[in-house]
Amino acid sequence: MAPPVVLPDLQTLTVDAAAALAFLLAGNARFVANHPLDPHHDSLYRQQLTQAQHPFAMILGCIDSRVIPELLFDCGFGDLLVIRTAGHAIDEVTVGSIEFGADVLEIPLLVVLGHEHCGAVKATISMLDQQQTAPDRIAVLVDHLRPAVAEIDIHDPNRLDAAIRANVLHTVVELQQIPLLAQREHAGLLRIVGAYYSLVSGAVELLTTPHG
Ligand SMILES: [Zn+2]
Repeated sequence: MAPPVVLPDLQTLTVDAAAALAFLLAGNARFVANHPLDPHHDSLYRQQLTQAQHPFAMILGCIDSRVIPELLFDCGFGDLLVIRTAGHAIDEVTVGSIEFGADVLEIPLLVVLGHEHCGAVKATISMLDQQQTAPDRIAVLVDHLRPAVAEIDIHDPNRLDAAIRANVLHTVVELQQIPLLAQREHAGLLRIVGAYYSLVSGAVELLTTPHG
């Protein structure tokens, strides 16, 4: 029988971006294999966190109800700082939240997580194709997602999926241009990577290199 997997005490370890990415991918592999450890869920652990938090990764993901970072990375309380907006679109407040995670909590890794069948990207495609304006603030959201969607040939048979992946890379580049985040990345204190979650397999695939 294989020895039980013991998760490190992430609250006391100093974790760099490479280690953080390895924790996430290992957690996702457990999730995909349907053998999650469901770590850091118990009341004792929760109580240990009351004085401080040291999440090891930030996830900027979509609001989609089928994409729950803590579950798909097999993490628990205190592990992840999660920010979710439709199509992981960013604005001033979102960036402020990410800067807080990077600068104040000194989280070494930021993962931009797109996903299969993203409704926000799909809606953007249909708004653009029909030359319609989305109602109220949804129009603001569509404007955010438009550049990535416009990059993909309208005849591409995998247009939606290609646009979803392009949208992840757009968000990564946008974040890399934020001065405070760029500064931390250049200093080796933060790494920003793009990833894609498959609803079907449950697997997370990296879209940029760990240095990207
Ligand atoms: Zn989505």
